[in-house]
Amino acid sequence: MKKQLAELIRSFNHRGWAPATSTNYSFIDAENQIWISKSGKHKGEFTQSDFMTIDNKGLGLGDFTGIKPSDETKIHLWIYRNFKQAKVILHSHGIYPVLLSFMAKPSFRVQGYELQKGFKGCQNHLDNLAIPIMINQQNMDLLCMELDQRLNEIKQYCFIIEGHGTYAWGENIFDAQRHLETLDYLCQSEYLRK
Ligand SMILES: [Zn+2]
Repeated sequence: MKKQLAELIRSFNHRGWAPATSTNYSFIDAENQIWISKSGKHKGEFTQSDFMTIDNKGLGLGDFTGIKPSDETKIHLWIYRNFKQAKVILHSHGIYPVLLSFMAKPSFRVQGYELQKGFKGCQNHLDNLAIPIMINQQNMDLLCMELDQRLNEIKQYCFIIEGHGTYAWGENIFDAQRHLETLDYLCQSEYLRK
C-alpha cells in the first residue's frame, strides 16, 4: 500500500495537483492503524518512508513519536470517524476545483456528464449531484465544525474546500483515486464551460 500510494502522490505532483510540500494523504492498514504523510515533504520526491503512524488524536506513535504529521491531519481523522468505509484519503490542490469553488459555493452542482458514474453508486449521467464546498480555515477545529454541520450533504465520497482543494476517499486506492479524478474532471469541465 505505502509504495503504491507514494507512487500515486508523485504522479499527482507531476500533474500539478500537489505543488511543492502541499497536500496530504493517509490510509488505514490491515491492523487498523492510520498512516499519514509527514509534514513538509516535497510531493515530487515522496517515498514510502514519508508516511508515519498516528493515534486517533493525530499524535505520532512508536518510532514516530514527536514527528509532525500533516497540518490537516484533523480532516483525515474526521473522515475516518464519519465514513467507516473510508480506508484511503487523497487530497488535491488541482486548480480547477479551486477556481470553480469561488463561483459555485456553497455547493458544486453538476448534471449530464457521463463521467459522473466515476462516483461509486452513481449509475446515470442525468443524476443531479451536489458536492459541498466548505469555507477554508487555518483552524482545523472550525473546518471540522462545518463538516459536522454538513455531513449529510456529503454523498459522493468527496468535498471541496473553497480556494484550497479537494478531499476524496474510498475503500482502497483504486476507489479513492477514481473519486478524486472524477471530481477534478467535473470541476474542470464546468469551469471551462462557464
Ligand atoms: Zn491542502
